[in-house]
Amino acid sequence: MKETTKILHGIPVDELTGAIATPIYQTSTYVQIAPGVHKGYDYARSNNPTRKVLEDLIASLEEGRNGFAFASGLAAIDAIVKLLQFGDEIIAVEDIYGGAFRLFTHIYQKFGIHVNYVDSTNALNIENAITPKTKLIWIETPTNPTLKISDIQAIAKIAKANKVLLCVDNTFASPAVQKPIAFGADIVIHSATKYLAGHSDLIAGLVVTNSEELGEKIKFIQNATGAILAPFDSWLVIRGIETLPLRVKQHSETALKIATFLQQQDIVNNVYYPGLQEHKNYDIAKKQQKYFGGIISFDLKIEDKILATQLVSNTTYFKLAESLGGVKSLICLPCEMTHKSIPLEKRHQSGVTDSLIRLSVGLEDAEDLINDLKTVFQTIAKKISIKA
Ligand SMILES: *Cc1c(COP(=O)(O)O)cnc(C)c1O
Repeated sequence: MKETTKILHGIPVDELTGAIATPIYQTSTYVQIAPGVHKGYDYARSNNPTRKVLEDLIASLEEGRNGFAFASGLAAIDAIVKLLQFGDEIIAVEDIYGGAFRLFTHIYQKFGIHVNYVDSTNALNIENAITPKTKLIWIETPTNPTLKISDIQAIAKIAKANKVLLCVDNTFASPAVQKPIAFGADIVIHSATKYLAGHSDLIAGLVVTNSEELGEKIKFIQNATGAILAPFDSWLVIRGIETLPLRVKQHSETALKIATFLQQQDIVNNVYYPGLQEHKNYDIAKKQQKYFGGIISFDLKIEDKILATQLVSNTTYFKLAESLGGVKSLICLPCEMTHKSIPLEKRHQSGVTDSLIRLSVGLEDAEDLINDLKTVFQTIAKKISIKA
């Protein structure tokens, strides 16, 4: 069975009624047959049939053992950190999602958990950073926003050899692009807000574990701390996942066309897209990814925030907004938006210059999207020539 068939037929038909769409079980509790005797459901924080369909679906899609649905991507990340104890250390990718950085720094540091950030595009940097206290390796690949790629298989080997857990934040790729557990990761997390839901209409997080033992621990944390996903939002994510492979294929095809177009523009300096042969980590991307995804970043030859601001404010189809992975294209200026809280020097070091622009390529026609950028580039080029 191929992937789309596996998804569509992995979502069970409702046993009670034959409903082909998953019913939304909007209930807080379940009537018991006798005290403590029930049909597997006692209270909706612990278990909900709609949420369970989503949890089983993501576990199967990520080729893992157990799935868990949380109220947000950050709640999912938070649940993983709660596997650790006072004094434990995390080695994390240096371009980590800003919200994860904030959680690690401002919440968990005071509980005695220390995080060491390294450039994980070279797996040796991870190996060298491991200490006896290291309990978790945390990577994102591709990273945000410069799309650096880390070799999941190589890092998983290092993690195993040192008995350290490897967690991959698979948000930017989605399981239609890569399956970290198949490469040896122990845990995968998602901001399902992005590609999995896919329509920019909710906030959700998912966790998948590779073993029953880890699954039981996450289940305990999920129930004990309570940041569960509501039935309706679970239903929307299921609905989103039904078209995930189709959407990601299309996002990726259009993104490659746009990235190629960007490379040919006079005003563009660097284009970051793992599907371009010029991309630093193209070979690893090709090895571990089925598609190259829908996110592209680029910066301008003239390093000017005002010009970049004009650019992102004047596109028609690319809407100016944070977030990514939806059917409608988005454009953002990380230095003023998603990455504003990162100190300037650190930002510049990781390639987030003042003119770096991030695109989340949607499902509009490629030609319309390219024309949208062409028009705004022409306006900008005129402004530059007037200035000169
Ligand atoms: C958005 C995002 C998150 C956080 O997810 P929320 O659903 O916004 O809480 C985590 N990791 C990555 C890579 C993200 O892009």
